[in-house]
Amino acid sequence: MLDRFDIQKLQDLPIEQVAEALGLQVSHHNALCPFHADKHPSLTFHRGRNRYRCFVCDARGGTIDLVMQYLNKNFLEACKWLADENNLVVSLNPVAEPVEVPKPFDANRYQRFFARPFLSEEARNCRLSALTTPFLAGVRC
Ligand SMILES: [Zn+2]
Repeated sequence: MLDRFDIQKLQDLPIEQVAEALGLQVSHHNALCPFHADKHPSLTFHRGRNRYRCFVCDARGGTIDLVMQYLNKNFLEACKWLADENNLVVSLNPVAEPVEVPKPFDANRYQRFFARPFLSEEARNCRLSALTTPFLAGVRC
């Protein structure tokens, strides 16, 4: 997983600089939107919020979203691209797979099996009477 602070570092990269690194022509905080057939620059950069937004196709996001969308990368790849592009060192470990934690043995779940062996009512009564009735003690059911 990427460190939270590393992600913040990448999100804080100037959005217009990231756009230019991707090959977009930014002028007056606008650029031709690469996400739709744009003839007039519809992609606007908000430097204060460090985000972009297209008012035509509604593409929007921050630095990492821009790289993800533009280069069609997943989150981790986009972070790596941004880090490489800006000579930032981030700890990029592959996203940890959720580990299946083996459940501890739960005796309660099996209790009824122990408490009630697989004997029919009749068989159990027979065993009981065999044990409690002396003259039947030797009889096996
Ligand atoms: Zn657009």
